[in-house]
Amino acid sequence: MNLHPFESPTFEMACRQFDLVADVLEIPEAMRDRLKMPKRAMTVTMPVRMDDGRVQVFVGHRVQHHLTLGPTKGGVRFHPEVTLGEVAALAMWMSWKCALVGLPYGGAKGGVACDPRQLSRGELERLTRRYTQELIPVIGPQVDIPAPDVGSDEQVMAWMMDTYSSQVGHAVPGVVTGKPVLLGGSLGRREATGRGVAYLVSRAFDTLGLPMQGARAVVQGYGNVGSVAAAAMADHGLKVIAVADVSGAIHDERGLDLKALDAHVAKTGSVLGFAGAQAMDPAAMLELPCEVLVPAAMERQITEHNAGRIACRILAEGANGPTTPKADEILSQRPEIFVIPDILCNSGGVIVSYFEWVQDLQSFFWTQGEVMDRLYRLLEQAFVQTLELSRRRHLSMRLAALSLGVGRVHEAKLRRGLYP
Ligand code: GLU
Repeated sequence: MNLHPFESPTFEMACRQFDLVADVLEIPEAMRDRLKMPKRAMTVTMPVRMDDGRVQVFVGHRVQHHLTLGPTKGGVRFHPEVTLGEVAALAMWMSWKCALVGLPYGGAKGGVACDPRQLSRGELERLTRRYTQELIPVIGPQVDIPAPDVGSDEQVMAWMMDTYSSQVGHAVPGVVTGKPVLLGGSLGRREATGRGVAYLVSRAFDTLGLPMQGARAVVQGYGNVGSVAAAAMADHGLKVIAVADVSGAIHDERGLDLKALDAHVAKTGSVLGFAGAQAMDPAAMLELPCEVLVPAAMERQITEHNAGRIACRILAEGANGPTTPKADEILSQRPEIFVIPDILCNSGGVIVSYFEWVQDLQSFFWTQGEVMDRLYRLLEQAFVQTLELSRRRHLSMRLAALSLGVGRVHEAKLRRGLYP
């Protein structure tokens, strides 16, 4: 099938992964396109008044991958390189992720091609509100529920919730997740993805029989996922020796003082220039010898060019799609590396988003302890099921996780049947 209009390296990558899984699951040819291709996609152009009086037109997308199990769910990305194809790939991964951890959602993703770092707060607010306005026909608590992703945050979710609520005439907290707690957000949501990464890293250490105390971690991406994962791994006794963000990478073999680093980032906006650490080439950072490598930035970072040289025992994918299928082929020849695949590793975020949505629908809120307890239970179940399938069928952890996710969506489509 022609991939247009989604054709892009990231969508091709998601399709390649799907095809491998479809072979493992022996999904009939006739079902494959139905499972793979996004159900709906919307592209909008948005004129936004800038602070200097000019009107700038931005392009945004929302892709809903399948509607078989409930509303669709997924983040909104504000990044200069956002394309429809990338958003479609990210929506597909959300589908497999939600099914893997047992959430009653299809996958979705949204994105606007913009650089939020170059926008003033007022410009970002006007863009967010205009984007939400354009999406009103296709979002809603029973239809599609956006959340934060790269470049968006709690404040963006608050504006989305306000814009949607103003249109329907009453407060609708369940239309987005990852909101401020005051507006119906969930305790623990902000930290959920990073804490989930650290929980699964600790399970990987158990599985390999390695000690965590003093083990070295390298983190690419120091945003909401990477910084929280780093702190949570340090709580488990790991030493974070290098981190990178968009501006560059820093390294200190003795272990970075993360509290001081967070204060530096809050003040300067980047990890560079942190006292006591040496700046280093961000690409070389991925190849530093360490026990845990956490790519927590963008997709396609571990490729056929560096997969043979990464020097970790555990690859914990905090980002979506950080490892290409060609890199996976190389990693399959390197059994010393234990991969915690993205759809498992970063699923803590959407799991707590689900808890937030449930709390909003019931107007009944949980304690932090209840949220974290339930989060770890779902992660544990998904980790054990993935590991078990990987061992029983001799599959990579990625193929095992994807098989569980894709298999459940496939089964659900068969059960519902084809209408008319
Ligand atoms: N953007 C996050 C992800 O990629 C969270 C999505 C959500 O909470 O709906 O998983």
